[in-house]
Amino acid sequence: MSNIFGKLPTCLSTFATKSYFKANALKNIGLRGTHCISQLVQQDKMKVKILPALSDNYMYLIIDDATNEAAIVDPVEPETVLQAVKDENVNLTTVLTTHHHWDHAGGNKKLLQLNPGLHVVGGDDRIDEMKQKVAQGDEFKIGNLNVQCLATPCHTTGHICFYVTDSDGTSKAVFTGDTLFLGGCGRFF
Ligand SMILES: [Zn+2]
Repeated sequence: MSNIFGKLPTCLSTFATKSYFKANALKNIGLRGTHCISQLVQQDKMKVKILPALSDNYMYLIIDDATNEAAIVDPVEPETVLQAVKDENVNLTTVLTTHHHWDHAGGNKKLLQLNPGLHVVGGDDRIDEMKQKVAQGDEFKIGNLNVQCLATPCHTTGHICFYVTDSDGTSKAVFTGDTLFLGGCGRFF
């Protein structure tokens, strides 16, 4: 995203980012390549279903194999999430929001309308529907899986990365939002 969005008030920058991603998604329809294919990654005690969203975002459905409890990371496209929950036949309880930008947190309101009672976790007061505000070192559970919160205030001041592990550390994954990508890191606002 361009630097100008960092200087705008939150409501304006939310509108601007929303418009940008909607335009981008429309522009890229038919040109998505492999981005439109969801993928299931099986570890020892947990599964992660990778769900493409918008033009180049991903949502992640984290499933604890032992209890069938699941969490979703950055559910910007709620219908896609609920279809995956149905397909995998899991019990979705938790929403992990890495940061407040529309392309990550913009689906929270609708998802909660469609599926009330979900527990929304995040590190920034600007995150819609947030029920639990977390900070560096905070921990909680998804079924038997442990989630550790890592404060990474660079891309946004309230950005959180979620580090998920099983009890003996054989299954692990970190969900880094816009802090860290395969090819680099997100723009510092
Ligand atoms: Zn962002």
